Amino acid sequence: MSRHHPPEDVLMAYAAGSLPEPHSLVVATHLSLCPACRQTMTGLDALGGAMLDDLSPTLMEADSLDRLMARLEEPAPPKAPPAPTDSVLPSPLRAYVGRGIENVAWKKLGRGIEEFRLPIPNTDGYTTRLVRVAAGRDIPSHSHDGDELTLVLAGGFTDGGENYRRGDVAGADPTVHHTPVADADGVCICLIVTEGKLRFSGPFGPLLSYFRG
Ligand SMILES: [Zn+2]
Repeated sequence: MSRHHPPEDVLMAYAAGSLPEPHSLVVATHLSLCPACRQTMTGLDALGGAMLDDLSPTLMEADSLDRLMARLEEPAPPKAPPAPTDSVLPSPLRAYVGRGIENVAWKKLGRGIEEFRLPIPNTDGYTTRLVRVAAGRDIPSHSHDGDELTLVLAGGFTDGGENYRRGDVAGADPTVHHTPVADADGVCICLIVTEGKLRFSGPFGPLLSYFRG
């Protein structure tokens, strides 16, 4: 059971389809792990449906109704087979990674940290990565140019006195300067969306410069 959820305005933006792709992926992955937020989404979808019902008499001109009916009669496009789920990557994320967690081509960054960049175009200045941190290791003290959104997939970490485990979502904005530490009970794997560049400030800053945007 997740203890740290995306804020409701983020869920609403997701329901409205207005989140950038990397953030949509984080929310979709969280939803696959969090019954409570799925419940919230059901309520939001019902709300959205009711609003559409209210709008439909004025929005639907006669010819658009004809077009809608014609479209409904067309055969539905074949659905892509659902991506398989493995023990770490829920299906929305598995589809992006394109392989199981055991076959991810990790790139070593040093100090027990590895990353895999997801093939999502960096058009809005966002970088989307899987990051794997050895048990008990920290990500060196850093701040950000922009927001950072993290979803735990395996293991856990502690940051600012809060502990985050599988399914939990952590957000940080440019005012946050932090040193997340992986839990000691095993490797920690996270999906992390970063806006702009990370700014490392500690003695290991230069070592991890390739972590930047
Ligand atoms: Zn949730």
